Amino acid sequence: MSTIAAISTAQAAGGIGIVRISGENALSVANQIFKTVSGVNLQTLSGYRAAFGHVISDGKPIDEGIATVFRAPKSYTGEDVVEISCHGGLYITKQVLRAALQNGARPAEAGEFTKRAFLNGKLDLAKAEAVMQLISAQGAQSSAAALGVLEGSLSREIAAVSGRLKSVCAALAAWVDYPDEEIDDLSDDTLQKTLSFSVSVLQKLLTRFDSGQAVLSGVDTAIVGKPNVGKSTLMNRFVGTEKSIVTEIAGTTRDIVEETVTAGNVVLRLSDTAGLHETGDAVEKIGVARARKKVENAVLILAVFDGAVPLTKEDEDLISLCAGKKAVAVVNKTDKGLVWDKEILDNVFNNVVCISAKENQGMAELESAVEEILGTADFDPSAATLMNERQFSCCTAALENLLEAKSAFESGMTRDAIEVSLDAAIENLDALTGARATESVVNEIFAQFCVGK
Ligand code: GDP
Repeated sequence: MSTIAAISTAQAAGGIGIVRISGENALSVANQIFKTVSGVNLQTLSGYRAAFGHVISDGKPIDEGIATVFRAPKSYTGEDVVEISCHGGLYITKQVLRAALQNGARPAEAGEFTKRAFLNGKLDLAKAEAVMQLISAQGAQSSAAALGVLEGSLSREIAAVSGRLKSVCAALAAWVDYPDEEIDDLSDDTLQKTLSFSVSVLQKLLTRFDSGQAVLSGVDTAIVGKPNVGKSTLMNRFVGTEKSIVTEIAGTTRDIVEETVTAGNVVLRLSDTAGLHETGDAVEKIGVARARKKVENAVLILAVFDGAVPLTKEDEDLISLCAGKKAVAVVNKTDKGLVWDKEILDNVFNNVVCISAKENQGMAELESAVEEILGTADFDPSAATLMNERQFSCCTAALENLLEAKSAFESGMTRDAIEVSLDAAIENLDALTGARATESVVNEIFAQFCVGK
């Protein structure tokens, strides 16, 4: 395979920048652009050895740094790899990359290093996707869950299911092909146990998906309420900075302000919407329409009410808008006292929290309510977690196949009918881990990576 190179560290000023070179000619390319101080030729170094020296471009030293050599297959990609650690910063790293490209490497595509690792059997697709998740992790729980999957928590569970299904299928195939032979019979009991084991593992994974997504990717959350109830103040409380405009004039949040914050285990993609109320102001009208849409599309709603003034029709409209949705009622301004009975909210909201956004009271209770409603309070990052929609749909399809097999078995259908469904389940599980993913799926996955990973 061709030799590829890319800057693997962030494209910004930093203490160290790394240019990674991978492929058949990685060592010879590196040797042309990196002269060791000791005079040793990089091509003679064994794996896991590093040398200090200068990066050379157009015959001149452009930086000093360290070249680390990895020998196939013991490298990230499974190929020969050299990582040149130079001084961080946009100019230097680009010059080092340019030198590598002028000496026989070609620019790596997005995710190409990890794609090669996958193609060389260093990791499966579930693990590769965990790499991407780990890079974008925004909190302790999400990075722990991604690391767990990278280290095999999901792949092991899938392998346990597909391994058992494969051996059952092999026995079924033998029985179907040679019905008259004395083949070690697959007992109904084994078949039934395998089916219920597999169904329960996949069901558990699927049940955890929503809370996993809340931890890993975050939840679209809308802060809604009539003007002046304290939505922007609450948003700023979450964010910790003055992001939204807080004023005493109703209707100042004209559009949607977005911010990503963490609340306990959960990443919230918060949007502070324009107040929900009838308005004659044209600009505000657009904001209100967008706010209503946001409520429709949001996964979680934080419905804010002013506890210090009587409820109005706008508040009642908001209460009915929240019916049947994942919504927390936030009764704000309780520092000024509560002038209405908050039990009125109990019909629609399972979680009602009293806070004072201004005085920073009740925020911990609000976080707990959010975690409770999203089911993330007892999220265990060491348990296998489906990382994304692709894995979720492979798993869902496999479960459907298994349920078909189960009902075929229970209704006494022939074993070849069961085998067809089991084969399909195995195929879907193989697609999840990449053992049988199509080239276009693989390309699509790695195209979402950044260049250099
Ligand atoms: P929004 O229109 O819903 O975004 O409301 P703002 O966040 O702009 O707040 C409107 C007014 O209410 C501002 O003067 C805030 O300082 C005030 N406010 C917000 N939260 C509280 C609170 O918890 N207690 C009190 N007393 N005032 C608050």
